[in-house]
Amino acid sequence: IETKLPKVGTTIFTVMSQLALEHKAVNLGQGFPDFEPPQPLRDALARAMDEGRNQYAPMHGTAGLREQIALKTERLYGRKVDVDREITVTSGATEALFAAMAAVVRAGDEVIVFDPAYDSYEPAIDLQGARAVHIPLTVPAFSIDWQRVRDAITPKTRMILVNSPHNPSGAVLSAGDLDELAAIVRDTSIVVLSDEVYEHIVYDGAQHQSVLRHPELAERSFVISSFGKTYHCTGWKVGYAIAPPALSAEFRKVHQYLTFCTFHPAQVAFAEFMASSPEHYLELPAFYQAKRDRFRALLAPSRFKLLDVPGGYFQLVDYSAIRDEDDVAFSRWLVEQGGVAGIPLTPFYETAPGTRLLRLCFAKSDATMEAGAERLCRL
Ligand code: PMP
Ligand code: GLN
Repeated sequence: IETKLPKVGTTIFTVMSQLALEHKAVNLGQGFPDFEPPQPLRDALARAMDEGRNQYAPMHGTAGLREQIALKTERLYGRKVDVDREITVTSGATEALFAAMAAVVRAGDEVIVFDPAYDSYEPAIDLQGARAVHIPLTVPAFSIDWQRVRDAITPKTRMILVNSPHNPSGAVLSAGDLDELAAIVRDTSIVVLSDEVYEHIVYDGAQHQSVLRHPELAERSFVISSFGKTYHCTGWKVGYAIAPPALSAEFRKVHQYLTFCTFHPAQVAFAEFMASSPEHYLELPAFYQAKRDRFRALLAPSRFKLLDVPGGYFQLVDYSAIRDEDDVAFSRWLVEQGGVAGIPLTPFYETAPGTRLLRLCFAKSDATMEAGAERLCRL
């Protein structure tokens, strides 16, 4: 058959995780915690199954979970969202991103993405028959050059996709960035898709600048989050999309026939845990900041140069003092010879900038971080 996705192979996350297994490497590649979700959350999940919440959930999510999401959104971002019409629970952020694009992007449209871009974006755009317009982020701050965005806008621009905190760099958007974005989309029909899966992981006392804090942008945006990141359970695949009623209605038309609904017991468990332990997400920045600082301290004696990490749970390291080769070759060498798996950045670019950077995940136990750092310090 003629492939619809000629550029797509196996994702770099799967490739590196397989290599890590093969070479018995410390896996700091694919982003997932190697520690467990909170015990009360796991207990709540088991209870939900025991208590018979095992059939289809409501199509757009359980009322209890949507209420908790609305409470959190108002508490953190000062925005009241309509529990019934503006929140849709999805099977992970990945589904939400796809559904948002399928809901509004048409064949021939253009979608602006910033490189390095999370790898699910472009195939989702391609499958709509649309075209991804890639704008590189500045290096090494990974910030957006707004003039380049203004220059890239055409009558076909249908959507701008932003991601803050950013995977893989950890860069965060500022309130000023949101103002720039708002000025660009004002008086257009451009929809904003804001991937905020790391919303609760920002450091050094900074506030996450959610698009939901910006009333003008929130009126034309899908904001996506993921419980996998917040509650250390990436394997449960539960996320959500917040959007104004008209956008949510279109989103739900897609969600309804993509998955119909999301794993019911987990929704019951999240609702219960969010109600009883709202401090979990408030404490997440300190929890991950301790990991970030520990990982950086462990790598301080190494020959890697550490880039700043304002958010997210990835550390970018510059390896140019160790080997002079591109990042895909370096990551292969590192997993085979150095015993550590990381993620190269090239797969996230349309045009790789030739930086000598590797992404290492620090959502790891102390033992894993120590084992990884010990190997990295030998290089
Ligand atoms: N967006 C970004 C930026 C991510 O890092 C991830 C997870 N790696 C996702 C979306 C997907 O989230 P989920 O696992 O909830 O589908
Ligand atoms: N989001 C994770 C990462 O960036 C991986 C998710 C996946 O493997 N699809 O590493």
